[in-house]
Amino acid sequence: MTEPFCPICKTPHKLYPDSYWVHCSSCGHLLAYSKGQLEDHSRKSQLLDQSAEGLFAIGLNGRMRDRWFEIVGRVRYRYLDMEVAGHWDNWYIRFEDNTFGIIVSEGEEYYFYMKRESFTSEIPDFYALQPGSNLNIEGYDAEVFEVGEDVIEFIEGQVPKYYEPGRVAQYVDCQFRNYFVNVEYSKEQKLVFFGLKLAPSDIEMSQTS
Ligand SMILES: [Zn+2]
Repeated sequence: MTEPFCPICKTPHKLYPDSYWVHCSSCGHLLAYSKGQLEDHSRKSQLLDQSAEGLFAIGLNGRMRDRWFEIVGRVRYRYLDMEVAGHWDNWYIRFEDNTFGIIVSEGEEYYFYMKRESFTSEIPDFYALQPGSNLNIEGYDAEVFEVGEDVIEFIEGQVPKYYEPGRVAQYVDCQFRNYFVNVEYSKEQKLVFFGLKLAPSDIEMSQTS
């Protein structure tokens, strides 16, 4: 873990190796980590709505089934389609063995996703897919149930580079039995996340350590 300082208010931030975007909770600036230093990126920042929602908050510890984790980041998405008002949060969590995952909270429902770092399947273009299409990925024949476009409104805590605030992405959500596949299409890359729905009893949160 490195511990660079906020260039604005000098607060130290303990950063994990894959963290890039950092929100300084002391001064409210959006920072980016590069070459051992934090730089101010506040022009891209949005107003932070830090109202508590549901179970989660940065710095809390929790247990998912038998694994302990810490919440290290939050990504607030909003639908770009004006007819579909709404937003949802991705909570970026780190387990004790240093692997990480994402809890997606949508209302009262929770899903757990992990980013798929490599895959052999060819991912179709966004415009080739629509609800009802089949997406064959890594041997799974998943069915598309939602396509859309969203924007990352803000981040809190620390998150990897691909969660750039202001980034617009197209997404495809698919399901294969009890598993979910989410593909995000941005200018630079296609990101693939595999997930599953959590039962309320799968997650238990405790106090800040
Ligand atoms: Zn600061």
